[in-house]
Amino acid sequence: KLENATIKAELGRASWKLLHTMMARFPEQPTPDDRLALQTYIQLFARLYPCGDCAAHFQKLLAKYPPQTSSRNAAAGWACYVHNQVNKRLKKPEFDCNNIGDFYDCGCGDEKKNNGG
Ligand code: FAD
Repeated sequence: KLENATIKAELGRASWKLLHTMMARFPEQPTPDDRLALQTYIQLFARLYPCGDCAAHFQKLLAKYPPQTSSRNAAAGWACYVHNQVNKRLKKPEFDCNNIGDFYDCGCGDEKKNNGG
Protein backbone atom coordinates (compact mmCIF):
# COMPACT_ATOMS: atom_id res chain seq x y z
CA LYS A 1 0.00 0.00 0.00
CA LEU A 2 1.01 3.62 -0.58
CA GLU A 3 2.14 5.80 2.28
CA ASN A 4 -0.68 8.02 3.54
CA ALA A 5 0.78 10.99 5.42
CA THR A 6 -2.61 12.03 6.80
CA ILE A 7 -3.22 8.70 8.49
CA LYS A 8 0.39 8.48 9.68
CA ALA A 9 0.12 11.92 11.30
CA GLU A 10 -3.20 11.03 12.94
CA LEU A 11 -1.63 7.92 14.47
CA GLY A 12 1.25 10.07 15.71
CA ARG A 13 -1.03 12.62 17.38
CA ALA A 14 -3.08 9.90 19.08
CA SER A 15 0.04 8.09 20.25
CA TRP A 16 1.75 11.19 21.64
CA LYS A 17 -1.47 12.18 23.38
CA LEU A 18 -1.69 8.83 25.15
CA LEU A 19 2.02 8.80 26.01
CA HIS A 20 2.07 12.33 27.49
CA THR A 21 -1.21 11.79 29.34
CA MET A 22 0.20 8.61 30.90
CA MET A 23 3.23 10.57 32.08
CA ALA A 24 1.00 13.24 33.60
CA ARG A 25 -0.65 10.45 35.65
CA PHE A 26 2.49 8.55 36.57
CA PRO A 27 3.02 8.50 40.36
CA GLU A 28 5.02 11.35 41.82
CA GLN A 29 6.79 8.80 43.98
CA PRO A 30 6.80 5.59 41.95
CA THR A 31 7.57 2.19 43.47
CA PRO A 32 10.26 0.05 41.82
CA ASP A 33 7.38 -1.91 40.24
CA ASP A 34 5.82 1.31 38.84
CA ARG A 35 9.19 2.24 37.39
CA LEU A 36 9.70 -1.15 35.78
CA ALA A 37 6.19 -1.03 34.32
CA LEU A 38 6.82 2.35 32.66
CA GLN A 39 10.27 1.35 31.44
CA THR A 40 8.85 -1.84 29.92
CA TYR A 41 5.86 -0.03 28.41
CA ILE A 42 8.09 2.50 26.66
CA GLN A 43 10.44 -0.16 25.30
CA LEU A 44 7.53 -2.20 23.94
CA PHE A 45 5.82 0.92 22.59
CA ALA A 46 9.01 1.72 20.66
CA ARG A 47 9.27 -1.83 19.40
CA LEU A 48 5.63 -2.31 18.39
CA TYR A 49 4.80 1.19 17.10
CA PRO A 50 2.95 0.44 13.85
CA CYS A 51 4.95 2.76 11.57
CA GLY A 52 8.14 0.75 11.17
CA ASP A 53 10.33 3.70 10.13
CA CYS A 54 9.12 5.73 13.09
CA ALA A 55 9.71 2.79 15.43
CA ALA A 56 13.27 2.33 14.19
CA HIS A 57 14.07 6.01 14.70
CA PHE A 58 12.41 6.06 18.09
CA GLN A 59 14.37 3.01 19.28
CA LYS A 60 17.58 4.85 18.43
CA LEU A 61 16.36 7.85 20.39
CA LEU A 62 15.63 5.61 23.40
CA ALA A 63 19.15 4.20 23.26
CA LYS A 64 20.55 7.73 23.29
CA TYR A 65 18.09 9.15 25.84
CA PRO A 66 16.98 6.34 28.17
CA PRO A 67 13.51 6.74 29.71
CA GLN A 68 13.45 8.58 33.03
CA THR A 69 11.15 6.92 35.53
CA SER A 70 12.24 8.25 38.94
CA SER A 71 9.20 10.57 39.29
CA ARG A 72 6.24 11.98 37.39
CA ASN A 73 8.22 15.15 36.62
CA ALA A 74 11.20 13.19 35.36
CA ALA A 75 9.01 10.97 33.16
CA ALA A 76 6.95 13.86 31.74
CA GLY A 77 10.11 15.89 31.10
CA TRP A 78 11.77 12.97 29.38
CA ALA A 79 8.75 12.32 27.10
CA CYS A 80 8.58 16.01 26.21
CA TYR A 81 12.28 16.00 25.40
CA VAL A 82 12.18 12.97 23.10
CA HIS A 83 9.02 14.26 21.38
CA ASN A 84 10.98 17.46 20.72
CA GLN A 85 13.78 15.36 19.21
CA VAL A 86 11.21 13.86 16.82
CA ASN A 87 9.83 17.36 16.15
CA LYS A 88 13.31 18.53 15.26
CA ARG A 89 13.87 15.69 12.81
CA LEU A 90 10.47 16.37 11.18
CA LYS A 91 11.17 20.14 11.17
CA LYS A 92 8.29 20.90 13.51
CA PRO A 93 8.37 23.66 16.12
CA GLU A 94 9.85 22.89 19.53
CA PHE A 95 7.36 22.56 22.39
CA ASP A 96 8.14 24.45 25.62
CA CYS A 97 8.44 21.65 28.17
CA ASN A 98 7.94 24.10 31.05
CA ASN A 99 4.32 24.34 29.90
CA ILE A 100 3.61 20.63 30.11
CA GLY A 101 2.16 20.80 33.65
CA ASP A 102 -1.58 21.20 32.95
CA PHE A 103 -1.48 20.50 29.23
CA TYR A 104 -2.31 16.78 29.43
CA ASP A 105 -5.48 16.08 31.38
CA CYS A 106 -6.99 12.61 31.26
CA GLY A 107 -10.41 13.95 32.23
CA CYS A 108 -10.73 11.12 34.72
CA GLY A 109 -11.52 13.36 37.69
CA ASP A 110 -10.10 10.80 40.12
CA GLU A 111 -6.51 11.90 40.57
CA LYS A 112 -6.53 11.42 44.35
CA LYS A 113 -8.08 7.97 44.26
CA ASN A 114 -5.51 6.48 41.88
CA ASN A 115 -2.28 8.29 42.32
CA GLY A 116 -2.22 9.80 45.76
CA GLY A 117 -2.15 13.43 44.69
P1 FAD B 1 2.48 16.00 17.06
O1 FAD B 1 3.97 15.94 17.00
O2 FAD B 1 1.71 14.74 16.80
O3 FAD B 1 2.07 16.58 18.46
C1 FAD B 1 0.70 16.65 18.85
C2 FAD B 1 0.54 17.81 19.81
O4 FAD B 1 1.34 17.56 20.96
C3 FAD B 1 1.04 19.14 19.28
O5 FAD B 1 0.06 19.79 18.53
C4 FAD B 1 1.39 19.87 20.55
O6 FAD B 1 0.23 20.44 21.13
C5 FAD B 1 1.87 18.77 21.46
N1 FAD B 1 3.33 18.64 21.48
C6 FAD B 1 4.22 18.93 20.50
N2 FAD B 1 5.47 18.69 20.91
C7 FAD B 1 5.37 18.23 22.17
C8 FAD B 1 6.33 17.83 23.14
N3 FAD B 1 7.65 17.85 22.89
N4 FAD B 1 5.87 17.41 24.34
C9 FAD B 1 4.57 17.40 24.63
N5 FAD B 1 3.61 17.78 23.77
C10 FAD B 1 4.01 18.20 22.55
N6 FAD B 1 6.14 10.83 11.71
C11 FAD B 1 6.93 10.76 10.63
O7 FAD B 1 6.55 11.26 9.57
N7 FAD B 1 8.15 10.14 10.70
C12 FAD B 1 8.61 9.58 11.84
O8 FAD B 1 9.71 9.03 11.88
C13 FAD B 1 7.78 9.62 13.00
N8 FAD B 1 8.17 9.03 14.16
C14 FAD B 1 7.30 9.00 15.22
C15 FAD B 1 7.67 8.32 16.36
C16 FAD B 1 6.80 8.22 17.42
C17 FAD B 1 7.18 7.44 18.63
C18 FAD B 1 5.53 8.84 17.35
C19 FAD B 1 4.56 8.72 18.49
C20 FAD B 1 5.17 9.53 16.20
C21 FAD B 1 6.04 9.63 15.13
N9 FAD B 1 5.70 10.32 13.97
C22 FAD B 1 6.51 10.27 12.89
C23 FAD B 1 4.48 11.16 13.93
C24 FAD B 1 4.84 12.61 14.22
O9 FAD B 1 5.64 12.70 15.41
C25 FAD B 1 3.60 13.48 14.47
O10 FAD B 1 2.78 12.86 15.46
C26 FAD B 1 2.76 13.70 13.23
O11 FAD B 1 3.56 14.18 12.18
C27 FAD B 1 1.64 14.76 13.52
O12 FAD B 1 2.30 15.96 13.91
P2 FAD B 1 1.60 17.20 14.55
O13 FAD B 1 2.26 18.39 13.97
O14 FAD B 1 0.11 17.11 14.44
O15 FAD B 1 1.97 17.20 16.11
